Amino acid sequence: MTDATVAGGDKIRCDACPVMCYIKPGAAGACDRYANHNGELVRVDPHIVLEQTVSHGGRLVPFQAGGGDWDGKIVLEPNVFVTAIGAGTTYPDYKPAPFIVSSEIDGVDMVTVVTEGIFSYCGVKVKIDTDRYLGPETATVRAQGEAIGHLTTSEYGSQMLSLGGVHHLTGGSKKEGRVTCDALMDLSNCKPVELTIDGGATVVVQAGYPPIVNGVAEERMRVGCGSATIGMFAKQWHGKVDEVVVVDDHITGVLSEHQAGKLLDIPDTGIKMKGRRSTPGRYFQVADPGTGWGGTNISDPLSVLGPFNPKEARPGLTMLMVSTTGEHAAYYELDEALRPIEKQMPPDLRFSVERIQENCEPALCTVLFMGGAGGSLRAGVTDNPVRLTRSVKDALTRVTSGGAPVYVWPGGGITFMVDVTQMPAGAFGYVPTPALVAPIEFTLRLSDYAALGGHMDHVRPLASLRDNTELRPMPYIPGRRT
Ligand code: SF4
Repeated sequence: MTDATVAGGDKIRCDACPVMCYIKPGAAGACDRYANHNGELVRVDPHIVLEQTVSHGGRLVPFQAGGGDWDGKIVLEPNVFVTAIGAGTTYPDYKPAPFIVSSEIDGVDMVTVVTEGIFSYCGVKVKIDTDRYLGPETATVRAQGEAIGHLTTSEYGSQMLSLGGVHHLTGGSKKEGRVTCDALMDLSNCKPVELTIDGGATVVVQAGYPPIVNGVAEERMRVGCGSATIGMFAKQWHGKVDEVVVVDDHITGVLSEHQAGKLLDIPDTGIKMKGRRSTPGRYFQVADPGTGWGGTNISDPLSVLGPFNPKEARPGLTMLMVSTTGEHAAYYELDEALRPIEKQMPPDLRFSVERIQENCEPALCTVLFMGGAGGSLRAGVTDNPVRLTRSVKDALTRVTSGGAPVYVWPGGGITFMVDVTQMPAGAFGYVPTPALVAPIEFTLRLSDYAALGGHMDHVRPLASLRDNTELRPMPYIPGRRT
């Protein structure tokens, strides 16, 4: 895999990355991935191969290539898939990838090229399902006090972080680069990481688990914005309550003014909202952002209302106020002075709040690793690297990361994203340059591989791996595999 050279005092030199460690007998290199075992440079972790299960959790097929009918895919997938996890790295880039493995499926010769890529250009995109305010957009995100990324634009029911990237890995202090690398590796390996956001919250992020915002585990992801919630549940409120306000930091909905209310002939109630009216029944900026009702900073929902208009309001008028997750809800009736007085919520309205809660999905953190394989890494696959890029864009080559499907961005290069929860545990490593080590596999027909200038003299049959004692077969189960 690598060409270790013997140095003085029985040390050997690892050349799998630019650090070029001298490693003593019985010791590991700086990244803990390679070690000196009786004078031989060895990859410490086992090389992971995935075996297709017959069904979820079912019996494993024998460790051999082939089997099954071709389903028409250009890139065929063998029952045994050789991942890059534990395969090792070659450096410098012109050296062929550590494993270039051929297999035959229904008479079609395929090849999978695997390598543990060293990514200086990489990061993670984090989606945090919560309405709670995490901080101002573009605010710096820190781990152990070091800047490792920033809060970016919110998505529907989620707050997004963009972490890592070459700027934080290489452009700041040595500590910033090291802490960024550690945080990226832990997040990518589905471990919890505590992050603080300048001017905002502290949040513990772990892929596949609920976020913990300021020490409180988030339970539900909002059913929609305030306006959408009105649209979804207006019919269920019709005839049971005169007015509904769905409090939301972004778009607060008001039933009687909203198009949904108009179509149901719900009469005007004389309600007066604070904030900026966007369109009928949809209000922006009713309060400041925070960790209270609907991602606002309020604990008293009446603070978003002005006085009711006596021309339309009447004593006894009923009103439900609810947040976008149903976590907060209150019921009011107007008194003789047209002031809302909180009363016990009638059971059918309580049921509607529970229906909102029921329609919320569990709040989770999602971590997508994003890396650029469009640079030098391609030279380990072919002596004409741009042909690999074209082959990927032409869908002749399938890219996977630890066997997991990736999304390859359109445009130049091979810039991909992968859901880390779809990958086997411990798929990511690091080197202290600093950079992330991530598995990447390219699978294509052997004839296409030859045509793009592949390293044909390094192709080895799948069966030749069978005798490798460092191999660790793992079941391939679609969905979460960690
Ligand atoms: S950091 Fe790891 S891969 Fe790089 S030279 Fe040292 S032992 Fe080898």
